[in-house]
Amino acid sequence: MHALTTSRLRKQLTLFFMASILFLGAVITASTGSRLLAIFKSSVHSNLIKQVENKQLAIENYLHRLADLSLQLGSRSGLRDLLASYDQGLVPLETLQQFSTPRLRDATQRLHELSGLILLTADGQEAAHIGVIPDRDLWPAIPGPEDPKQYGHYGVVFSPPFYLDGKLYLIVISPIYHQQRLIGHDLLCFCPEHLQSVFEEKSDLYSGTPFLFRGGSTTPILINGAELSPPGGLDPKSNPHLLESLHSLSGSGGIYPYPAMDGQPPTLLACSRLYDLGWYIGVLHNRAELDSYLKKKLQPVFLIILAVTALGGIIFYFLARPLARQVLVHATDLEQMNQDLAKEVSERRQIEQHLLTSEQEWANTFESIDDAISILDREGRIHKQNRAARQLSGSYSAVHRKRADLRNLLPEDGQPSELFQQLLAEGKPVESIYSDEITGAFFRISLTPLSVHNALRGVVQIVQDITEQKQIEKMKSEMISAVSHEIRTPLTAITGFVEFMLENETSADQRQNYLEIIHREMRRLNELMNDFLDLQRLQLSLHAYHFAPTDTLALLKETLSLFEMASEKHQLVSQLPDQLPELSLDANRMQQVLKNILANAIKYSPAGGTIRVNARSTDQSVFIWVQDEGIGIPVKDQQKIFSRFYRVDDSDRRIPGGLGLGLALVDEIVKAHQGRVWVESTLEKGSTFFIELPRHPEREPQDAAQRI
Ligand code: ATP
Ligand code: MG
Repeated sequence: MHALTTSRLRKQLTLFFMASILFLGAVITASTGSRLLAIFKSSVHSNLIKQVENKQLAIENYLHRLADLSLQLGSRSGLRDLLASYDQGLVPLETLQQFSTPRLRDATQRLHELSGLILLTADGQEAAHIGVIPDRDLWPAIPGPEDPKQYGHYGVVFSPPFYLDGKLYLIVISPIYHQQRLIGHDLLCFCPEHLQSVFEEKSDLYSGTPFLFRGGSTTPILINGAELSPPGGLDPKSNPHLLESLHSLSGSGGIYPYPAMDGQPPTLLACSRLYDLGWYIGVLHNRAELDSYLKKKLQPVFLIILAVTALGGIIFYFLARPLARQVLVHATDLEQMNQDLAKEVSERRQIEQHLLTSEQEWANTFESIDDAISILDREGRIHKQNRAARQLSGSYSAVHRKRADLRNLLPEDGQPSELFQQLLAEGKPVESIYSDEITGAFFRISLTPLSVHNALRGVVQIVQDITEQKQIEKMKSEMISAVSHEIRTPLTAITGFVEFMLENETSADQRQNYLEIIHREMRRLNELMNDFLDLQRLQLSLHAYHFAPTDTLALLKETLSLFEMASEKHQLVSQLPDQLPELSLDANRMQQVLKNILANAIKYSPAGGTIRVNARSTDQSVFIWVQDEGIGIPVKDQQKIFSRFYRVDDSDRRIPGGLGLGLALVDEIVKAHQGRVWVESTLEKGSTFFIELPRHPEREPQDAAQRI
């Protein structure tokens, strides 16, 4: 993995270098390239102008030569004198013609480009005619004697060049003076091969289509190089836009780009004006060709720049390689360190998480323990307390907490209890039982030292509520005494009667009487045992309930009928409604409830009286209550009578004994039905026992029973 990362890093670095080099190369090439292109373009443009100017110079020189030749012809003294004589009227025209024609023929023999010559007298007569001369309409206008300036810079008048039978011609009119007087003209017709060659001449750089044109003219093209150039060349005549522009051209020349028009490619015109004649020499270039020429020329330059940049980059890369290697080494170390660190961090996180979880678990456990736990430091200051400890402390008022006898139970900051001091003195766990006289609660207080390396760091105090345990113990002893007491009475009677019958002769009536007593007492014994066992079974949830929809009214009536004959002294009055809703009940158990309450009503009304049984239903519940006119129950006992073995002081001899289990059973059964039972009673007036049974129990009654 490590090697893998390094090689990846190396690859990335190389890639980065290469990409940078290429990018740099591209940027340099592009920026220098565009500059170069511009420079190259302007140099090409100036070259084009130079080229056209060269042509212009060549033409001008040539024209000068023609003008010189023409003027030289006219300046021959013999011929000029004769012409002057004619002009003065001293010699007739015929004589002039006879003399001048052969002289001129001789003189022009060596002029190869001359196709013909006419010597004109000042009055316009032909004094000589040699060779071929085109028609008069192709001649330029012959200036009059009064305007010698018309001969201009060259000293002669040039006709525009023209084509005749596929050949190029140029007519020159040169004046002949004698003693500063114009005496005639030479009209020379040249077939100017050199002029043609100037147009045909191809530049080795980039050729265009040369042509001669006259600015400001409606038919500007004088010599069209397109006719001379190979097929496919540009023809300025076929470019109307260009023609229009040439017509308006009046400057000295320059470079004029023209966009593509009328099927013509985009063009570039380089032109230069010929001195004094109003003629221009122009070269028309195909811009696309020119551009491709430029590109072709520049391509190697670009490639060289790119190559040089790339080479520079590669050299730089190799120079920087040792540095990159070092970076890689450091990067590898750093990566390793990073990995180690990440591993350590993750381990620490795991440990932290683990600690947090266990801390949370411990805190939850600590909080949820029912025993009140307080952790104290060595000086007895409270360091930590759980919920149960806080509740226990909160259950006593601030005044009570100050009591010295409570100090052992409720630790107070900075006031070490006796037990705490005992632990400090003995250096081992101590324990004590505390009983609260007011609430009747019992607590086991145990203090354990918290030692680290045999040094006491603090004390853990655990307070357990052992009230129930104590009550059970008490209950057990009460039960034993109650059961033994209750059993003893019938047993004594049974034993007495049995012994009496065994020892004495008895009559059949007596035996019958005694056996009935024995039988009744045995039934009493049996009932006692049943009550006792029933309660035990209920509490252990061994005795399952059988809930079923039950006709409540029928159940009540049936139970009442059992008691109709129970007592002569008592009158049972049923005040039941016509109908009661059906309830989900364990009918046998519910009947047992009613039986116990009715039995109590009879039992605890020794003087007799009326016992009223009532019932009523609401949307939520069915209420049943049994009212007697008996001895009543003291207020302080009204809650307690539902506890097991609890009996109101029964010093009243009229009341038969009991185990104190009946109402406990009632309470258990009613609670299993999610109902409640309570009593309202006035001493010596009577008691009313109420039962409320819900019509729509929140949960399955069976569950409730199992919870008990
Ligand atoms: P047994 O277990 O045989 O029923 P018991 O009747 O003493 O014994 P409970 O039925 O649990 O026990 O009654 C508890 C006490 O409540 C009785 O001892 C009695 O003092 C008082 N008591 C119950 N019913 C009445 C009543 N209708 N009027 C007056 N006191 C009553
Ligand atoms: Mg009873």
